[in-house]
Amino acid sequence: MNKPLAVEIRSSFDVDAVRADFPILRQQINGHPLVYLDNGATTQKPQMVIDAICRFYSEDNSNVHRGAHTLSDRATEKFEAARKALADFIHAPDQREVIWTRGTTESVNLVAQSWGRKNLQPGDRVLVSAMEHHSNIVPWQMVCAEKGATVEPIAVDENGCIELDAFRSMLDERVKMVAVNHVSNALGTINPVAEMARLAHEAGALILVDGAQAASHWMVDVEAIDCDFYALSGHKMFGPTGIGLLWGRAELLEAMPPWLGGGEMIESVSFAGTTYNQIPFKFEAGTPNIADAIGLAAAVTYLNSLDRDGAIAHEKALLNYALEKAAAFEGLRLVGTAVQRVSVMSFVLEGIHAADIGMLLDQQGVAVRTGNHCAQPIMDQFGLDGTVRASFSFYNTFEDVDRLFAALEKAREFLL
Ligand code: PLP
Repeated sequence: MNKPLAVEIRSSFDVDAVRADFPILRQQINGHPLVYLDNGATTQKPQMVIDAICRFYSEDNSNVHRGAHTLSDRATEKFEAARKALADFIHAPDQREVIWTRGTTESVNLVAQSWGRKNLQPGDRVLVSAMEHHSNIVPWQMVCAEKGATVEPIAVDENGCIELDAFRSMLDERVKMVAVNHVSNALGTINPVAEMARLAHEAGALILVDGAQAASHWMVDVEAIDCDFYALSGHKMFGPTGIGLLWGRAELLEAMPPWLGGGEMIESVSFAGTTYNQIPFKFEAGTPNIADAIGLAAAVTYLNSLDRDGAIAHEKALLNYALEKAAAFEGLRLVGTAVQRVSVMSFVLEGIHAADIGMLLDQQGVAVRTGNHCAQPIMDQFGLDGTVRASFSFYNTFEDVDRLFAALEKAREFLL
């Protein structure tokens, strides 16, 4: 491995110890040791998360908030402790502000359907960046179509950065919501969400931050961002699939109508009229995903036990190493070159379709994502139907980067 000296000095993070916590990484794919570089799509799970889910079903399984027996009490206690763990993790001032959802997609839909249907009027505007994931575009298009409001894209420049001046000039009293991702899944750009929150608030608008790609890379602090809503997916932060959260300011959540109706979200039900539960339960109709909420809390415990500064430095070193190799790789063009970015490298190879590259890399044990990354508008802007995306996590190694480029070299030889 010929990694540059600068990388060696910066990265003292014990990646071998961390890798030992992720059993899935110890396997061969198509006869090669797995190189997992699809962390933007979903992250792998440490043994601690797998064990927490297994333990819940083996020892504590019961429904929550409603049983008159020991197991139900135990399940309720763990479920609510998980909520508190997540609230602390994102620096939420009040755990009632954490609503369990299936993930970021459901969280955005909840705000669009509940807040949006109540508050949007004909002529109102919702601003989203041109590099949003479809899940932060389509829910707004759906509610705006119903309410006679419009969804308008905030311009993104050729490096993949939001044009803040353009954003500033779009803000007027008809803008009611700004919905923007903290980190772009397609390009890796870290967006200036705190600055955008300040500008949105000055203009009288609210701001929702899609944090799906952020929490796996650093500590999220909703108070420091000063946003109004923040959405997360558990599976992108080393937790299980099917669980995530919406954080919202208590006063906003309290004023919003429920979205889904059913058990748990009510205070009392009668044919004369139904009254609703307090937050967060008002937004949690039906039996929740108890085991995976507990699994997600285990992921947070795991993350808190890591040397996060070391992990951040390690990811940065991996990215820099990959970018150095990319610069020397003939015909490789990076898509998204923001200075502020996470360890994501999106690229195209001249004359070769991204899907073909993905397939040939997989044959060599290297897992990447190819396609439009559910971000078609930004792909259209770059004149592409897709890219190859290598997204690194703290358990990746410099050898993984070497393997990626060796596999790309072979793919190119084969295809050209
Ligand atoms: N937002 C961003 C930036 C994403 O990367 C993703 C998933 O890739 C989502 C939202 C949707 O997340 P989920 O499918 O977990 O709801």
